[in-house]
Amino acid sequence: MPTKIKINRKSVKKNPNAGQSVHHLPGRITITQVMITGECTDGGAVYRKRTYIGSKLSPDKQQLVDGHLVGEETRTIEYNNAGQFPPPPPPDWKDSISVNTSIQEIHSLTPQPNWLYEYEDAEVECSICRSEFPWEKLESDYGWDADDEIYSNSVCPECGAWECCEIEFEKLSDKELEAIAKLNKPKRRKK
Ligand SMILES: [Zn+2]
Repeated sequence: MPTKIKINRKSVKKNPNAGQSVHHLPGRITITQVMITGECTDGGAVYRKRTYIGSKLSPDKQQLVDGHLVGEETRTIEYNNAGQFPPPPPPDWKDSISVNTSIQEIHSLTPQPNWLYEYEDAEVECSICRSEFPWEKLESDYGWDADDEIYSNSVCPECGAWECCEIEFEKLSDKELEAIAKLNKPKRRKK
């Protein structure tokens, strides 16, 4: 006789992402660092703007540690007797660092279910070593039997026996789940 694992009635709730087959996850991080350097030459102040791209920041978050150079520009600003010495870099040339996280789209083959729920705790017994434990402790394992890949998701956590017990998860239709969810909703008090 398989052990029946019941759906925890109180845990039934509507899945806010029901029916969706696209999930959004934070993806790759791109950090862009712009560094301005300058030096005085006979012809004027030579400024260099270097752009680096990478994905890791130094612990003080002030610098890229794995940056590689992706762009370099040079601009010469001539000396002007009336102006500042050395002349400042172009106004839009500033040291900066920016972090960008792209959003990754994951497409799954099966759309998300309409209802979410958890299963209740229940003890199961290993048919080999006779130890008892909650079903959540069952382990999974896979291996090869000749040329076939074999798999078990009811491996005993104590003795390691495969298919150590039989369990059967309760299944309810969307209609039944909806009815349970309705009962879970707090009732409004009558005046
Ligand atoms: Zn066992």
